[in-house]
Amino acid sequence: MATLLYTHPACLAHDTGPGHPERPARLQAVLAALDDPEFAALQRREAPLASTEDLMLAHPARHVQAVMSAIPQDGLSMLDGDTLVSPGSREAALRAAGAVVAAVDAVVGGAASNAFCAVRPPGHHAEPDRAMGFCLFNNVVVGARRAQQAHGLSRIAIVDFDVHHGNGTETQALADQRLFYASTHQSPLYPGTGMGNDPGHPNVINVPLPPRAGSPEFRAAMIDGVLPALRAFKPELVIISAGFDAHRDDPLAELRLTEADYAWATEELLAVARDCAGGRLVSALEGGYNLEALARSAAAHVRALMAA
Ligand SMILES: [Zn+2]
Repeated sequence: MATLLYTHPACLAHDTGPGHPERPARLQAVLAALDDPEFAALQRREAPLASTEDLMLAHPARHVQAVMSAIPQDGLSMLDGDTLVSPGSREAALRAAGAVVAAVDAVVGGAASNAFCAVRPPGHHAEPDRAMGFCLFNNVVVGARRAQQAHGLSRIAIVDFDVHHGNGTETQALADQRLFYASTHQSPLYPGTGMGNDPGHPNVINVPLPPRAGSPEFRAAMIDGVLPALRAFKPELVIISAGFDAHRDDPLAELRLTEADYAWATEELLAVARDCAGGRLVSALEGGYNLEALARSAAAHVRALMAA
């Protein structure tokens, strides 16, 4: 079955100000890579706007209102020291979350076996009631809740190979054992969470990696930590928080992954999805700040999705 690609030009209009690493050129680089003829078979879809009700699957109404009311008429405003918003941020954030909702609907509904959401702003640092770390709304949690509430699925797994720990996603999994969250990330690094595991929460798996760890350490973390726990959880849908900032060329962190590691990890997660979840897998872009490495890594990821 086909692989879907959800994106929208509005995601390019989220302006984070001069010199900010989470910039529109990131998404342009990913989309340019996916314009190559080898990706012609991708089924391209316009990301719809998430509704307020969709966002409230993962956030209290007061957070949705606080973010929306902080978006300026012109210029920039700051939600935290790293998280800036501009007039275009409203539609970008709604398209980013809406992409994951639509991808979940399509994949769970059987229209495709998997999907990649090429969107920004990213989401995995967004806490239920707080925007942080370039993230306004937690796109993957909105999608996971959609699968539970609209499609009656119970066990949803989110696997996060972004170099940063997805604190916002972890918060939601700690409160709900029907959500599984596994993260490989550099530690120490922003946001400083994800240092270890709590035996009382077998549905949350953190595998911190030291600076300068590369392919062998990452693959061991997946093989020994993430993948066995993911299989044991028996997910009905696998969602990937696909950040590519653990790449060796990324300027924000110090891990040393390559495109081949992202292709391998994608294939391994597809194998679990095939065995446990009827192949259903939805991936959403998170970080990745070296444009060339991001483009090549996202292409390797999507190539693996299309080969499933
Ligand atoms: Zn990141």
